[in-house]
Amino acid sequence: MSLPEAFDPDVLALPLFDAAHRTLADEIGQWCADRAKAWAGLDTTDPAAAGRGMLAELGQAGWLRHLGPDRPGCDIGSGRPDRDIRSGQPDRDIRSLCLRRQALAYHEDLADFGYSIQELTAAAIARHGTDEQRRRHLPGLAAGTSAGALALSESGAGSDLAAVALEATPDGDGFVLNGTKAWIAQGDIADVCVVLARTGDGPGPLGLTTFLVDCAAPGFGAEPIGAIAPRSWASLTFTDFRAGPETVLGERGQGLVVALDVLERARATVAAAAIGFARRAFRLALDHARTRKAYGGRLADLQLVRSSLAGMDVKLSAASLLTARAAWAMDLGLDYAKHSSAAKLYSTEAAGEIVDAAVQIFGAAGLVSGSAMERLYRQIRSLRIYEGSSEVIAMTIADAL
Ligand SMILES: Cc1cc2nc3c(=O)[nH]c(=O)nc-3n(C[C@H](O)[C@H](O)[C@H](O)COP(=O)(O)OP(=O)(O)OC[C@H]3O[C@@H](n4cnc5c(N)ncnc54)[C@H](O)[C@@H]3O)c2cc1C
Repeated sequence: MSLPEAFDPDVLALPLFDAAHRTLADEIGQWCADRAKAWAGLDTTDPAAAGRGMLAELGQAGWLRHLGPDRPGCDIGSGRPDRDIRSGQPDRDIRSLCLRRQALAYHEDLADFGYSIQELTAAAIARHGTDEQRRRHLPGLAAGTSAGALALSESGAGSDLAAVALEATPDGDGFVLNGTKAWIAQGDIADVCVVLARTGDGPGPLGLTTFLVDCAAPGFGAEPIGAIAPRSWASLTFTDFRAGPETVLGERGQGLVVALDVLERARATVAAAAIGFARRAFRLALDHARTRKAYGGRLADLQLVRSSLAGMDVKLSAASLLTARAAWAMDLGLDYAKHSSAAKLYSTEAAGEIVDAAVQIFGAAGLVSGSAMERLYRQIRSLRIYEGSSEVIAMTIADAL
């Protein structure tokens, strides 16, 4: 099988993947390639509208179907991410999530963005919710008709989530939420939002609980934030927001456990998205170097340009191998924390370097507003910050040594 350009066939041929993964890579890669023409004209001047449209598109095409509550052999509530692949359903396993993100990021930032935020929200509900919560929220997320968000960060609590201050005060059998959240992806289009709040059941990290918030309910507000890469992104406000007992997600006082479980599970997939962006930049730079005439030859004949291209290729291979190992270890239920942290740290840092080097090979043409290279340059930056900044991830690796 000749694989789509979003993937390195040498990596997918490794025994870390099986035939079902290669079929999935082919399918999602082909689908993205078919959509590429339409996505080239995507209007992102209204990121909220573009985000909603992309979710509908992903949902209709079935790429969110695995988030539903009734998938055969899925890992809902089991706490084990390896169920599906062992039962022959390459569906919710981490390698499948990585392959989907790599292809989507390769072709269109907003497709990867929408996919990943739906995935984060649904994972929190699937892994920590009650049957009723899963039945209520997962079908819409899986159809792309309902948008999700995961609201952990605040202006005073980013890397240090134990400092979350959004207050959830007991009131009758429920709670009243007051406070703010910052930097929330899909915050201004979300229908359902997983919110980390302080219930005060214990000190610091033990006093937090997650809630499943209905964003249409009174007391919820969202203010869009402009981003260097246009995506639906918002600050949230909770003003005397009533959260009934049925909205508590997981156990009271275990909110940080829920948040970290979801973030750790997603870590390798951020690495995969970074590889998608970087591989696109690399291939564009390679094509440009091979066709751009210079000094009676081509850019690709110049030794320093050749060295830069070789460096990109090596970094892409290293990132792909680290990420495949991390995802494989997770799917097999092995210790994975150090591997997925290494994959995220290396891949996102390397992707930044690769995209920057690709812009350099394009010269001025790489800086034209709206061009593929210029967009990649803006899109890649946030991956070194969100879901664990490089510095914080490096500390977790050091702790595991
Ligand atoms: C595009 C984007 C989307 C996002 N989406 C969401 C979302 O959907 N939901 C959500 O909850 N949040 C979201 N975030 C927020 C993101 O999770 C935080 O930005 C991240 O956790 C870092 O927190 P901070 O920005 O407050 O930086 P800070 O925590 O203030 O960190 C600032 C700097 O200090 C460094 N630093 C922090 N702690 C340490 C340490 N212990 N040792 C060494 N250095 C350290 C950091 O690495 C960083 O360089 C998003 C962010 C971005 C950029």
